[in-house]
Amino acid sequence: MLAITKLGHPVLRAKAEPIAGVDDALRRLAGDMLETMYAHEGCGLAGNQVGVARRIVVIDTREAKKRPSVLRIGGKSRPVHKHMPMVLLNPELELVGAPESGSEACLSIPGVHGEVERPAVVRVRGIDLEGNKIEFEAEGLLSRALQHEVDHLDGILFIDRLDAAERKRVADELHEMAGGMVG
Ligand code: ZN
Repeated sequence: MLAITKLGHPVLRAKAEPIAGVDDALRRLAGDMLETMYAHEGCGLAGNQVGVARRIVVIDTREAKKRPSVLRIGGKSRPVHKHMPMVLLNPELELVGAPESGSEACLSIPGVHGEVERPAVVRVRGIDLEGNKIEFEAEGLLSRALQHEVDHLDGILFIDRLDAAERKRVADELHEMAGGMVG
């Protein structure tokens, strides 16, 4: 199990470095990240969130039964569960489709959630743990999770993407939580 970095830690604002190649240490990191994500009942985790500023994300959206995911390869729909858990290295996203609003939370900002507008569909390119190039299209929760996690690699948090009213509400929530911890 890895420790999850929390809001205020500078690594969450760092731009993560590309990964040059897959080795045993990286495979171990991916396994530890998945274990840590499952232990906290998250559906995604990025390198920065375990203090590693490298471009790796892990995702598993299978448990979110009420928020389905869609995955297409070469334009054809594929069973999402066959591609989970997903480990993506050096992911690049092309955002397509109209923005839609959805609820998000983050293991690095416990106790806070907010409505975030993001494009509905992403085209994804990256490398898997075997070093193979992969390319697919995602929609639904998987699209949102990918955008949230790749944001982490660029030092962006979901609270940065809230509208003014949501931002105010979340700031109050964060303030209250910080206040609760004093003394
Ligand atoms: Zn997050």
